[in-house]
Amino acid sequence: MSAHRSTLRRSLLVAATAGLVIGGVGAAPSATAAPSSTTADSTTADSAAGPAADNDTLVLAATGVHAAGGLVIRQPARDVLRRTPLAPVTAVLPVAGYHLTGTFGASGSNWSSTHTGLDFAAAYGSRIGAAVAGHVVSVGYDGAFGLKVVVQAQDGSIWWYCHMSAATVEVGQSVAAGTQVGAIGLTGNTTGPHLHLEVHRGEPVDPYTELTARGLTP
Ligand SMILES: [Zn+2]
Repeated sequence: MSAHRSTLRRSLLVAATAGLVIGGVGAAPSATAAPSSTTADSTTADSAAGPAADNDTLVLAATGVHAAGGLVIRQPARDVLRRTPLAPVTAVLPVAGYHLTGTFGASGSNWSSTHTGLDFAAAYGSRIGAAVAGHVVSVGYDGAFGLKVVVQAQDGSIWWYCHMSAATVEVGQSVAAGTQVGAIGLTGNTTGPHLHLEVHRGEPVDPYTELTARGLTP
């Protein structure tokens, strides 16, 4: 591959020095062109002809065009980039239109002890979605936490959604990332409507870190 690339780079230099036209327009050779109907998440198509293989083929084709005396050096078709498989959605932020009002490990008059979660303040009744997929292991009132839904994720981590005004899932139910589990409320000890999110791995861990590790920025 690198040999091909350096060959192409030299070809481009030669072409540029010679004042030749270097074009990025035009369809890729039929052997490498993907059907436009191929979708980005089609694993079947990607396993049949991966993007890397196509790039390689295109570089060869481009070099071949130059070697044959052609004036146009083709660039990889956009289809190749578009067909790069998308990562499956594994996590989403639980609330939209929020601002953070409490972070993990904070202490102060708002909390009886060190704060063990991440607080998303949002309008009362706002939708709360599961941050990660899993199954619901409990739904109910839990003292200072108020109305709480607990989801066990596939990696074993336990996610608590607290202070809710309503729960919209039942114990045993499977949820995907983004599935609504409840609504923002004021149940339990809270001075304003917000989601108190906790993540447990034996003991509470920082939800902010858990979310950023999944590519999210709370
Ligand atoms: Zn909190």
